Amino acid sequence: MDSYQIEPIGHISSPYKQKFAIPRQPRLVPQAKAKLLFCQNFNREEFVRGIDEFTHLWLLFRFHETADKGYSALVRPPRLGGNEKKGVFATRATFRPNGIGMSAVKLEGIEYKNGQLALLLSGIDLLDGTPIVDIKPYLPYSDAMPDACAGFADTRPETHMTVSFSEQADEFIAAQTTYPELRDFIANVLKQDPRPAYKKQKQETQFYGMTLFDFNIRWQVDESHNHVIEITKQ
Ligand code: SAH
Repeated sequence: MDSYQIEPIGHISSPYKQKFAIPRQPRLVPQAKAKLLFCQNFNREEFVRGIDEFTHLWLLFRFHETADKGYSALVRPPRLGGNEKKGVFATRATFRPNGIGMSAVKLEGIEYKNGQLALLLSGIDLLDGTPIVDIKPYLPYSDAMPDACAGFADTRPETHMTVSFSEQADEFIAAQTTYPELRDFIANVLKQDPRPAYKKQKQETQFYGMTLFDFNIRWQVDESHNHVIEITKQ
């Protein structure tokens, strides 16, 4: 069997510091901003010349956090409540042969600062440190297929979840100035209902935590309501 070695061309610097609570596809949380920092061999303006003519890009990346955990032929897509199995190639599951992911994201700009070339992106669904193996411009005339049928994932996941913030959380958000969209960002991440499928039917109050940027965020879920209890700096 042929095998290949792939060299990353860059890495993602993302507010999502752990897998839990990352939206399941790009563009679900537009406030999720990231930088793609090019590796030394690709850290030259020539590699991206003309890229600013495109509003969206395809990123091909390695599911580096889970790639060494292997794969199986059948997976349980969260979209089906975790109860039904589908073939791995009929899903966008992370546990797959070769561990390659793809996301269409918005290009917000290009930055060249202190000798480091970076693409500024939004709407990402990528973990901090994700290795990028290729970038291609998104071509609407060919890539957008409005009549396409997407089986069990035909529509954007509906969310009926609401979000509120404790006094402490609101004060914390108001006191920091680095991330003006922090409140909307947290709210939209929680509206995606990051709970595992099997927990969604549970009646009792559930408590969760996640790290966004360097903030630890704790919240509780009662039926379809998220309440942000506390935000602290790491
Ligand atoms: N849009 C991609 C990803 C879909 S799966 C694709 O279709 O290929 C989305 C999940 O990937 C997220 O919820 C997150 O938990 C997970 N993820 C993101 N970056 C990852 C990484 N570097 N390693 C492992 N899992 C990752």
